[in-house]
Amino acid sequence: MVDAYFSRAGSRFAAPLVFAVLLLGDSAAAQEIAWNAIRSPAPGEPNAIGAYANGCLLGAEELPPEGAGYQAIRLSRHRNYGHPELVQFIIDLGARLDEVGIGPVLIADMAQPRGGPMPSGHISHQSGLDADIWFRLDLPRLPRSARDFVPAEIMVDRGDWRLRTEVWTDAQATILHLAATDPRIARIFVHPVLKRDMCEREWEDRTFLRTLRPWFGHDAHFHVRLQCPDDNPDCQPQNSIPPGEGCGEELLSWFPEPGEPPPRPRPSQRVPPTPSETCVAVATME
Ligand SMILES: [Zn+2]
Repeated sequence: MVDAYFSRAGSRFAAPLVFAVLLLGDSAAAQEIAWNAIRSPAPGEPNAIGAYANGCLLGAEELPPEGAGYQAIRLSRHRNYGHPELVQFIIDLGARLDEVGIGPVLIADMAQPRGGPMPSGHISHQSGLDADIWFRLDLPRLPRSARDFVPAEIMVDRGDWRLRTEVWTDAQATILHLAATDPRIARIFVHPVLKRDMCEREWEDRTFLRTLRPWFGHDAHFHVRLQCPDDNPDCQPQNSIPPGEGCGEELLSWFPEPGEPPPRPRPSQRVPPTPSETCVAVATME
């Protein structure tokens, strides 16, 4: 598998780069790549490589730190990069929110300049197609430095899974609706309680609800995941979403039995995957 996708992508790289990969080629070296220390995007045509949770990115763009309808936070983490389609998605979503008088929304982690695993916080966000957007809407425009330590507002009481209607309003539901109806979206992860609220609302066209995928966490932000861009053959799509709105049995299965405490995520036992040879090459490109 790795070989197959190295050979497809490999043809685009210059010979010295491939040679460098051969020298670097064992997995121990691959594991040691400090992706978070890389400050510049890899040059080349934009290419989301590999899987959302084991991949990397060529030709990333930096999200402008502020724009209509949004402002990016935690810029010192250098995670405000993405495939140009992701950057454009956020700019477009911000513009639509601005038109309806919502925002600015806070854009948190996207990807590192060349993607790859992050030292903290995420398993995915590796191929430049994932972004976290906060639900908190009460902050004015802030200078960049003041956006580095912004507390999150949690929309669900974590003790009893009650929707915090004092902070969760129609505006948040509108944001999810606007994001989820964008054809570039593959999935949006939200807390099961938030998905339930979206299911209980009236919508003219309910087909977007299927892209809202219940998941632990995601109660202070939602996580957008774009489809593989058309011309990125090295991008590995995820399995397709089951048919239907996902508002019935599937959603119910997330909720505790009466009298039981809400479920908690189990700590991940996942061993970080070895980066592909292609991604080792992306990390080491000059
Ligand atoms: Zn995320």
